[in-house]
Amino acid sequence: MRAITVEPGTARSVRLEHRPEPAPDSASLLVESMALGVCGTDREIIDGAYGSSPPGQDRLVLGHESLGRVIHAPRGSAFSEGDLVVGIVRRPDPVPCPACAAGEWDMCRNELYTERGIKSLDGFGAERFLLEPDYAVKVAPELGLLGVLLEPASVLAKAWDHIDRVGDRTSSWQPKSALVTGAGPVGLLAALMARQRGLELHVMDRNDSGPKPALVQALGGTYHVGAIPDDLMPDIVVECTGAPPVVIDVLCHTAGAGIVCLTGVSSGGRPLPFDTGAFNRRMVLRNDVVFGSVNANRFHYEAGAAALAAADPQWLAAMITRRVPLERWPEAFEKRDHDVKVVLLFDGGSS
Ligand code: BGC
Repeated sequence: MRAITVEPGTARSVRLEHRPEPAPDSASLLVESMALGVCGTDREIIDGAYGSSPPGQDRLVLGHESLGRVIHAPRGSAFSEGDLVVGIVRRPDPVPCPACAAGEWDMCRNELYTERGIKSLDGFGAERFLLEPDYAVKVAPELGLLGVLLEPASVLAKAWDHIDRVGDRTSSWQPKSALVTGAGPVGLLAALMARQRGLELHVMDRNDSGPKPALVQALGGTYHVGAIPDDLMPDIVVECTGAPPVVIDVLCHTAGAGIVCLTGVSSGGRPLPFDTGAFNRRMVLRNDVVFGSVNANRFHYEAGAAALAAADPQWLAAMITRRVPLERWPEAFEKRDHDVKVVLLFDGGSS
């Protein structure tokens, strides 16, 4: 079968290669790939800047945003042939730390977790792959190919779950507005979930053309280009760019007792001047909270699936701006103007 593999740490080592079919085992689902979402993490791995291969192997099968169809399910599992499934990305650390022991591998305390297609486990960028039923999530058949948005949706479902929990530190928390910075797939899914919570929505992005403004307007949100208006003081900010100047900007842009959730991963190495004293004073005197959020556990995949099921399918489809067949796979990893989500289509996704 064909698989997209890379040698982590070596830039431009990505290639499509033939790999042996997965050997069916009695405990795993055998899944035929339909689609694979591409994100910034994949590009970082391709650039040699992130990721690791499974122990004893030089190469890693790339891909963590999966969608596939079950072609064989172990007897007694909750899955049947034909089910659409998405694979959970992270696996608990072997120690395990208290978080992983409780099924909250997204909160792993010792960083010994593994991640399919990213850290020490082969990913889903192959025509067929094995998946443990405990790490498979069913996708409603009506969603079809849009199910490929579930992994990024799970990451935002986690961010919103934690925002809600922080807000609940006081019984009077009644947020009215949210600002999302960055209108890529992560930002747009954050924006969708803000609207699903009934919040007034603002989205800031540097693009003033392409599909992003209309996608935000279709949610009933206000689109701001390039800068956050000075008088905008939302209760909640979900930062999705990872761009240091934007990160600094959002830290000073919430209403009192505001919550800033950082989801964008920066590369670092470009220090900016920052008034730590003023930041500390503001945080303390206003009870502000800033926190980071990454990954998702099963609860968040289920919440992400519910959010996608409640969304307008045409809006979700408009987020997928390019669908690239496996034969033309290098195109899927190119960055093009006006891309939002790019998806690689496997033969299993065209039937
Ligand atoms: C994935 C997460 C993962 C993170 C860090 C993101 O692109 O969506 O599941 O935890 O990268 O590796």
